[in-house]
Amino acid sequence: MLNLAFGEAGLPVHPALRERLARAATDNGYGPVAGAPSLREAAAGYWTRRDLPTDPGLVVCGPGSKPLLYALLLAIGGDVVLPAPSWVSYAAQAGLAGVRPIMVPAPPGEGGAPDPERVAEAVSRARAEGRRVGSLLVTLPDNPTGRLAGQATVRRLARLARDLDLTIVSDEIYRDLVHDERAAFLSPAAVAPERTVVTSGLSKSHALGGWRIGVARLPSAPLRDRLLAIASEIWSSPAAPVQHAAAYAYAEPPELAERVAASRRLHGVVARAVAARFAAAGARVPAPQGGFYLYPDLAPLGRFATSGALAAALLDGHGVGVLPGTAFGDPPGALRVRVATSLLYGESEERRLAALTAERP
Ligand code: PLP
Repeated sequence: MLNLAFGEAGLPVHPALRERLARAATDNGYGPVAGAPSLREAAAGYWTRRDLPTDPGLVVCGPGSKPLLYALLLAIGGDVVLPAPSWVSYAAQAGLAGVRPIMVPAPPGEGGAPDPERVAEAVSRARAEGRRVGSLLVTLPDNPTGRLAGQATVRRLARLARDLDLTIVSDEIYRDLVHDERAAFLSPAAVAPERTVVTSGLSKSHALGGWRIGVARLPSAPLRDRLLAIASEIWSSPAAPVQHAAAYAYAEPPELAERVAASRRLHGVVARAVAARFAAAGARVPAPQGGFYLYPDLAPLGRFATSGALAAALLDGHGVGVLPGTAFGDPPGALRVRVATSLLYGESEERRLAALTAERP
């Protein structure tokens, strides 16, 4: 079975992080709800180095960015505008929070952000029905399409958010894995800092999904306090030992920065090679720009009625697991395929990365 369905880098824990976690195992106290001061400061430094000057007092850490995203839905309140397609959990979380996801297609050729041309209309319609609309979500770069929303789109959405009084939630968990060198990353937090929340974490860039650590950068103290009130009742604080190791990761020491860079390069090389093979077979495939995924549309091949049938045939006939595009609210044909860097090289991702970064396990 080749599982290309899950969003995991498939790398081992870096020895430097392993060591820091082990050293911190004696830290068994509950910590501050917002996260350990050392981690908040390190995360603030991480964003500040990326041209988003950040006050550590407005950083909130949680057990993964996923629970942070859910708590933010509750803290902001109201319906949420989502790009279509988008990561399945956003709409599922909206359902749990008792709000409505308002799906707005991405601009043609883009992914990860709703089309600004259509957002105002969708929000007006929902408001005319008496619904409150509170937020607009973008994923930069995107899961499932592997695309990075263009700077013009991000600027227009930031302006719209001001006009429509929406909070932008920018999920930037794949930010450090933008592998297309021509793609210029722009966070809406750089354009509309007063109304943008950024979420991120170490699950993708550092392959630490199982450690459950995420961070959020809040635009204001009132929203931070609403988030903390929810966090306090749900998770109390992230795991103390993990926060020690995460603070080290967010300081971006050379050995970890090199490894993230190697992972980014490797995902780019493999994503482009696999995309070319899909294209040669007749699929339409948006050029991958970042993150772990390819989103080929196999409809032009005309062999299967739905992406679900195609995904099932791949699993039953070839033992290959992928996600059908219908899981992301998309029309038939599309598949989300994880870029597995071990395949092209015929060796383990661990060995490949170790060679690239010359790390000593
Ligand atoms: N956001 C996106 C777009 C993801 O794909 C994922 C994981 O699949 C997450 C957030 C969740 O990450 P975390 O492990 O930080 O909860």
